[in-house]
Amino acid sequence: MISQKYFNYSIFLLLLSFLSCKDSNEYRVDSTFVDYLHRFETEASKRDKNFDIASTGLIIEFADLKDNTAGLTHYENPIRIEIDKTYWKAISKSAGADLMKEELIFHELGHGLLNRKHLNSTLENGEWKSIMCGGDKINGRSWNINYKGFRREYYINELFNESTLAPEFSSLQLMVDTTGYRSELYFSFNSIDQAGWEIKDTLQYKTSISNGRLKFESKVTDIFLVYIKTKIDIQTDFSYEFSIQYPTGEAVNQYGMIFGFVPTGSEGINDPVEYFTINNNKKMFIGNRSWYSYFTELNQNSVLSNGINKFKVVKIRKLLYYFINNTYTYCSEIEVSETGNHFGFMVPPKGTVYLENLNISQRIISGSPLKINQNMNVEFELKTIKPFNNTILNK
Ligand SMILES: [Zn+2]
Repeated sequence: MISQKYFNYSIFLLLLSFLSCKDSNEYRVDSTFVDYLHRFETEASKRDKNFDIASTGLIIEFADLKDNTAGLTHYENPIRIEIDKTYWKAISKSAGADLMKEELIFHELGHGLLNRKHLNSTLENGEWKSIMCGGDKINGRSWNINYKGFRREYYINELFNESTLAPEFSSLQLMVDTTGYRSELYFSFNSIDQAGWEIKDTLQYKTSISNGRLKFESKVTDIFLVYIKTKIDIQTDFSYEFSIQYPTGEAVNQYGMIFGFVPTGSEGINDPVEYFTINNNKKMFIGNRSWYSYFTELNQNSVLSNGINKFKVVKIRKLLYYFINNTYTYCSEIEVSETGNHFGFMVPPKGTVYLENLNISQRIISGSPLKINQNMNVEFELKTIKPFNNTILNK
């Protein structure tokens, strides 16, 4: 974020800087931020941009920022950047903290050293074009950036050169073959035998089967992760799909797919579980429970508000390809690096969802003997978790 004060009082500040005895070349960077500043200088010099910060001066300091602001750049002499202490501390506890911190510092240095303003345009797949997104919110959309893996390099290129070409990953043309998978586990939900999950009525939830659907009614105010333990490892190439409906309830509530490993007894924070959710406001979210917040939030026209939505994710090597109602929407690296064989769905607080045609497939490896699928015994588990941190703050 850029300090608005600058625009209102720029002349005053200019005058002040001539009159004051302040050392205009002051270099004072809190030791916490030094490494990120060095990374910025390294990335700059790779692109033939060199800054002599030691002589021009720079201040980066902690502050208690208001209005949910994570970082603020003041165009003073020297440039002064404030980072919100509470936010910094909050993200420190999560996986990906280092990348989130780098992104925040790079954004502020983008203002301060590269003179960049906010840029809120999007790529073909709808994700933010630049880590310089920010300022006044657009339709309440968060500033979350999927700043990791191959995306990080693109975003740094774009930071130093706004004319950087749109990256391949942002194309909505599916460039890979997602066929060649064989069903290993399928539930039609036509009968109790085909329910997959136990049919129960407890204090916390109720499950039932009706018209080829599994109905899951939550009675609690937490979010439910409902899953089965399979013999299919998410580190292999797999395809996971089902249709789900969340017909009533708050439109902002997220529901959808989970896969990975849900540790028993954990509080649901930092769990190595990937999630792929939507809400009835036609938003789509991709993330991992071990991170502070979701990687990305997209406006997704292919979502049918309150209707039956078909989810599908296909994994090919390290990449996950996401589909909604048979439309390819997004591609991202899998975050979980360990074995995980839990597949399931997410239910909003006190929400009722209906599940149809759940199918988990694995890639057919050519040359391997064709095995006969047997009914896989699955163990059913579920866990309540606290809500997600929904947004990355203003910057
Ligand atoms: Zn900003």
